[in-house]
Amino acid sequence: MNTFLIIILAIIVARYLLDTLSSILNVRHLRETLPASFAGIFDDEKYTTSQRYLRTNTRFGIISDTVSTTLTLAFLTLGGFNLVDQVARSASSHTIVSGLLFVAILMLISKVASLPFALYDTFVIEARFGFNKTTPRTYVADYLKGLVLVALIGGPVFAGVIWFFETTADAWLYVWIGMSALQLLLMFVAPVFIMPLFNKFTPLAEGELRHAIEAYSQSQNFTIQGIYTMDGSRRSAKSNAFFTGFGRSRRIVLFDTLIEKQTTEELVAIVAHEMGHYRCGHIPKGIVRAMLHTGVSLYLLSFFIGSSELFEAFGMEHTSVYAGIVFFGFLYTPIAFLMGLIESAISRKHEYEADAFAVKTAGNANAMISALQKLSVDNLSNLTPHPLTVFLEYSHPPVIERIAALQKLA
Ligand SMILES: [Zn+2]
Repeated sequence: MNTFLIIILAIIVARYLLDTLSSILNVRHLRETLPASFAGIFDDEKYTTSQRYLRTNTRFGIISDTVSTTLTLAFLTLGGFNLVDQVARSASSHTIVSGLLFVAILMLISKVASLPFALYDTFVIEARFGFNKTTPRTYVADYLKGLVLVALIGGPVFAGVIWFFETTADAWLYVWIGMSALQLLLMFVAPVFIMPLFNKFTPLAEGELRHAIEAYSQSQNFTIQGIYTMDGSRRSAKSNAFFTGFGRSRRIVLFDTLIEKQTTEELVAIVAHEMGHYRCGHIPKGIVRAMLHTGVSLYLLSFFIGSSELFEAFGMEHTSVYAGIVFFGFLYTPIAFLMGLIESAISRKHEYEADAFAVKTAGNANAMISALQKLSVDNLSNLTPHPLTVFLEYSHPPVIERIAALQKLA
């Protein structure tokens, strides 16, 4: 048997088993008694509902994961990739055109296969727990807009990557430079041109909240171009806040669902936390890490892209740059997984730093604590995740630990 095939199948199965183990441990880790720092915040009924929400999501996650893993294994071992390649090659003899078709068909297959699960998640599970606000019309519009964006941005990028790897020595270096430039460009373009395609951004109305946020950012000498509200309620009752843009064009965005539920003091604490991410330099550091990660993966890709053994593993009759990129993705999974673990660990550490910044500058640990408590209750967050699940999946520390850290600062 082909060595690459054995490695790739082992990676897929190992990943599936690890995720399932983590999900099972996580559900078993649920505690009946409410954690002390949420006494009087979560009522019994709501706390029980939050546990039911986790159980429902976990069961659904395991089922959809089992189906998608089985389908992937079947597609891979039964020669699905070769079949798609034949269709793409019969449509055009131009390698960039057939490459784009190859990837487009694969994406379409994966989209169609996952659609029933995505629909069930939004319109059954999220709806049952009172979160879903997405109408079928919005859902279809989002779906189509997403496809158009992928075609408009991803298409030319993939075509460029194929071209470089086919014609140039050291292609990985040029592709890396190009992709890094694009990554930076998108950070400026996204808040202005892409995000408004999906949501409405309205400047926050004059009033107490606006004044409080402005007073706070002035006290920190932090220039912002604007404070906006976003109609998050169009899709979900869940709430959030974030900063977008860079330098002078940066803006604060608060979900309408957040403003509805939090007090002015709590909202200022949330803004202070987001500002903390800026002030502690988390964002540029994250960009640099992402770029290094892209560079490493492209460099490794250049070693495997022409490996005939890799093409044999996928049952291919022809070798090509475009299929080599897709297959390398399978081989790269463990490295991407490790990078993801490191990234999450850094992100969790940064959350503590941003919380500490918020307390230091807004001077109100209790407002930050009650903001976090409200967010957890409203989003039916799991208060007692299993450490393995936190290690594998959490970009934020468990809320109980964040509150404990804030209490020490108070
Ligand atoms: Zn944060």
